[in-house]
Amino acid sequence: MARKPIIQSSDFDDSDEGLDESFDTRSEGSFAPRVDSDPLASREEDLLLRPTRMFEMVGQRDVYARIEIAVQAARKRHEPLGHILFDGPPGLGKTTFATCIPRELGVPFQIGNGATLKAPKDIVPYLTNAEEHSILFIDEIHRMQKCVEEFIYPAMEDFRIDLTIGDGVGARTINMQLKPFTLIGATTRTGLISAPLRDRFQMREHLDFYTPNELTEIVRRNAKKLHVEIEDEAALEIAGRSRGTPRLANNRLRWVRDYADARADGRITLNVARAALKMQGIDILGLDPQDVRYMSVILNIFRGGPVGVESVAHTMNVSPDTLVDEVEPFLLRSGLLIRTPRGRQLTTKGFNHLGVTPPE
Ligand code: ADP
Repeated sequence: MARKPIIQSSDFDDSDEGLDESFDTRSEGSFAPRVDSDPLASREEDLLLRPTRMFEMVGQRDVYARIEIAVQAARKRHEPLGHILFDGPPGLGKTTFATCIPRELGVPFQIGNGATLKAPKDIVPYLTNAEEHSILFIDEIHRMQKCVEEFIYPAMEDFRIDLTIGDGVGARTINMQLKPFTLIGATTRTGLISAPLRDRFQMREHLDFYTPNELTEIVRRNAKKLHVEIEDEAALEIAGRSRGTPRLANNRLRWVRDYADARADGRITLNVARAALKMQGIDILGLDPQDVRYMSVILNIFRGGPVGVESVAHTMNVSPDTLVDEVEPFLLRSGLLIRTPRGRQLTTKGFNHLGVTPPE
């Protein structure tokens, strides 16, 4: 398959919606740039639902306002945008921001993933390919190896890298100047980002969960994009069971739409939405079977906690990262769970949600 090293913003103008997603930034080994045939063609709907311009984004108004100012200033001064770090749980819009920003600036961009940046040589092509004022987006930047992190400090600060050519006594270092570019990092674990790396980002933006109103708006807009009729109450119901996360709102909407097509007349009514979500095991708070299982393991095996996340992960046969990144943030925020120095513990609300009387 032919590889194309740089993704030009002209490759994904508005008529060509979503081409930026023609690579999976999350899977190992996929940091390489876009391939010409779209391996994710089956995810056409994902692409359709992802905002391509910042004005289409719902919620995160404070972050939005700050980014808008920085973008406008960079445009006015014909300077590269300062480096930006986004953090927050998965599915809240880090990638969406990162892919909208270059469109606002009208500059090319490249996408990499920290998990695949194991040695400086892995990041060199991105840096040397970076065009003037272009954007380099590194998802899961906390997974980048320390040696890569140290290697990019001078690139971030002075737009230069030190390359070592050859081995042993014949080795020599050359200093290479780069074109001024902007690094956008995204992480679900800001705590794993070292202070020196964090401090090199001029802006650090935390994305928080969305309100039910914001999610309802996203569901309504996306129902329109999918050409499906939806009752207001049904949009509210789907939004309320999406754990504050646009990605889940979209996933739930698509499932409810399938259900409406297969079991009803295609319209999403409140009853259709409720029946569809029930069939997927999504409860009133929006917890899915994995969330409930996590809480049940703490309750039944570890007597409500406190218990270390590794022990729970082991019992459930999932990775601790999945629990920390995907399951716990919403449970913590909803007050169903707390983190103590001795581990995770269900709260009274957590016990009640499982229909169990909390211990004294
Ligand atoms: P992250 O990178 O934080 O995991 P993404 O940017 O991939 O999250 O967002 C997941 C999906 O949620 C996107 O494909 C998009 O459809 C939707 N989404 C995210 N943020 C917004 C937003 N602010 N407005 C509307 N939809 C959004």
